Amino acid sequence: MALLEITNLHVALEGGPEIVKGVDLAVDLNEKHAIMGPNGSGKSTLAYALMGHPAYEVTEGQILLDGVDVTELGADERAQRGLFLAFQYPHAIPGVTVTSFLRSAINAKRKAANGGEDDPVPIPEFRTALLSAMEDLKVPRELASRYLNDGFSGGEKKRVEILQMALLRPRIAVLDETDSGLDIDALKIVANGVNALVGPDVGALVITHYQRILNYVTPDFVHVFVDGRIVAAGGPELAHTLEAEGYEAFTPMPVGGGES
Ligand code: ADP
Ligand code: MG
Repeated sequence: MALLEITNLHVALEGGPEIVKGVDLAVDLNEKHAIMGPNGSGKSTLAYALMGHPAYEVTEGQILLDGVDVTELGADERAQRGLFLAFQYPHAIPGVTVTSFLRSAINAKRKAANGGEDDPVPIPEFRTALLSAMEDLKVPRELASRYLNDGFSGGEKKRVEILQMALLRPRIAVLDETDSGLDIDALKIVANGVNALVGPDVGALVITHYQRILNYVTPDFVHVFVDGRIVAAGGPELAHTLEAEGYEAFTPMPVGGGES
């Protein structure tokens, strides 16, 4: 069984229509998966549901992490079990610096791993890890003491998401359109961050609209996602087919008289 197993997942906004309409997906350690889909197809809804966003309701199906059903768990509990989401639209948290946010997140995970007893990361160890990850990801030093995402450029926000990922060392990393809005240098930095992380202890699910990032993060598996469903799956070559032919070819044809 893969580390992350999603079976027949249906997701609706609370009280709203169904947006994710039956997704089966398995992501294991040492695997890079890409989900490619057009705008509005429900990619972010799937990502939020995986992470446990309370406004997104799983109406059917299951999310298993390490064989454990996490479908009803809170986002914090999923994070403690090794799930991580890099947001498409990261929120600003005025009043909380990047440094204190990262340290709190790391300490929350350490506490959970330590049976609920505090086990704070020693400050020198934290600073060394932070500075080295910031250097790798070319995050300007001054950002560390600024409020999280407050007035950050689009590219800075995305790099700080990857900084979180690098420091939290998840087992399954989900990246929701981390590539969009990045220039080519920032894109390479983000891709390197993903490539450096994925290995025997980590798997990744890269959600994207464009093929571009997949030139740098070569996926083992590509899933085409249209209208809340995976409509095709294959290897990296599928990303190139999509780039050439667009999503039209994968959009189900309206059946006469039926719904499209
Ligand atoms: P994608 O990430 O593929 O662009 P989303 O998951 O963001 O797609 O959105 C899928 C559909 O669900 C869209 O029609 C969008 O308008 C709707 N939707 C998603 N989140 C919300 C929300 N919080 N409130 C209202 N509609 C939403
Ligand atoms: Mg989205």
